[in-house]
Amino acid sequence: ASPALSRIGLAGLAVMGQNLALNIAEKGFPISVYNRTTSKVDDTLDRAHREGLLPLTGHYTPRDFVLSLRRPRSIIILVKAGSPVDQTIAALSAHMDSGDTIIDGGNEWYENTERRLLQVADKGILYLGMGVSGGEEGARHGPSLMPGGSYQAYLNIEDIVKKVAAQVEDGPCVTYIGEGGSGNFVKMVHNGIEYGDMQLISEAYDVLKNVGGLSNAELGEIFSDWNRGELESFLIEITADIFRVKDEDGDGELVDKILDKTGMKGTVLLECCLHARAVHGGADDCGLFGLQVGAVRSGIDKKRLIDDVRQALYASKICSYAQGMNLLRAKSVEKGWNLNLGELARIWKGGCIIRAVFLDRIKKAYRRNPNLASLVVDPEFAREMVQRQAAWRRVVGLAISAGISTPGMCASLAYFDTYRRARLPANLVQAQRDLFGAHTYERIDRSGSFHTEWTKLA
Ligand code: NAP
Repeated sequence: ASPALSRIGLAGLAVMGQNLALNIAEKGFPISVYNRTTSKVDDTLDRAHREGLLPLTGHYTPRDFVLSLRRPRSIIILVKAGSPVDQTIAALSAHMDSGDTIIDGGNEWYENTERRLLQVADKGILYLGMGVSGGEEGARHGPSLMPGGSYQAYLNIEDIVKKVAAQVEDGPCVTYIGEGGSGNFVKMVHNGIEYGDMQLISEAYDVLKNVGGLSNAELGEIFSDWNRGELESFLIEITADIFRVKDEDGDGELVDKILDKTGMKGTVLLECCLHARAVHGGADDCGLFGLQVGAVRSGIDKKRLIDDVRQALYASKICSYAQGMNLLRAKSVEKGWNLNLGELARIWKGGCIIRAVFLDRIKKAYRRNPNLASLVVDPEFAREMVQRQAAWRRVVGLAISAGISTPGMCASLAYFDTYRRARLPANLVQAQRDLFGAHTYERIDRSGSFHTEWTKLA
């Protein structure tokens, strides 16, 4: 191979692509870059020059870009998900050969990746759908990477992704996820877990502020304190910082001046946080009842409330992760991806927004038992939740009686109780369905399906 050719190419030089390209160059891999709008190629070259990153070359046509790469070629695409990816693949693959690799690093719907995998295979091109987490900062200094698709394609870029990914004490934050669109699916669930974490933290804040009457200064201290314990994480750390920022254009702290409206970018799931966002899209349509129920409780034991909320937050977080992991497991079984859930927790320990000490505990739970039915039945997590359930119930009860909605904490507690209880009231649902639709039911004391003429017996 000619030394003048680049080891890898990157097409799509918006926020993510530009930063990832610079990261790759910084790790010493000669890289070619390309963008449909060529001014972004110049911007990237300027930035690389300013940062002294020499092994980066810019190209202005798909053909020049592809031909600047050493064979077998590997090209990362970081453009808007959907048809821009199809258009970019069409433009680039026209100049690519059998054995070359395309890696889509965008937040793509996993079924699109599965379609493209088959489509480019006609030309012998290998394909990966790679989740890239950690936003701009992660892309530049070390993201968590979730590549899924062709294993051979992964091997073609393994040396690069292992150096470019965030590094934690037990290795780089990247692993081959599995076949098909598994990398995108895992990234999507990761994003859902991320939103779940943010929702739970916001609920903890709401209870402390509106039931406990805590000031922003006190909240800053509490979150800093929490960040030295079991809740230690990037999100708790930045939340502590947020409470300390003054409003430069007025009195008090900036956080109080921000409209309670959530922006949505990319793919999200987890029912409760979605629900919270959907219900409260902005301030205009809320507070309709004109009745301020969320008044600060007089005579509240602040110290105890703070400790209870910490425990409620931690226990809720376990349930949120349990649901995310079980969603992954269900899809893995359906698609035959053979996902290694403990390894996923490991690669989220660095680079991404959900990075936390907590993920190491999840990794260990799955190492203890790779077939764990749910994190909530892992002996360690189960013990932690049982220890915290009294505090958890007090917080949720207090919030309900104060008229403060905590959908994440309530949903988590309901999830825990569903596992905790030996018998659920679904027996009555089965009876109803059998009565009106002869859907049959099973019995606790005998095997088989049964049907009863309920109305005749009633
Ligand atoms: P973006 O705003 O999603 O997309 C802009 C890029 O897409 C530009 O390079 C643009 O080229 C290109 N593009 C759009 N339509 C095109 C078309 N029809 N043909 C060719 N190129 C086209 O960029 P981004 O924020 O860097 O995100 C890239 C991907 O990473 C997305 O899938 C995003 O969801 C994902 N992601 C983003 C973040 C984040 O924090 N931003 C984090 C994780 C993952 P032109 O300059 O020519 O318009």
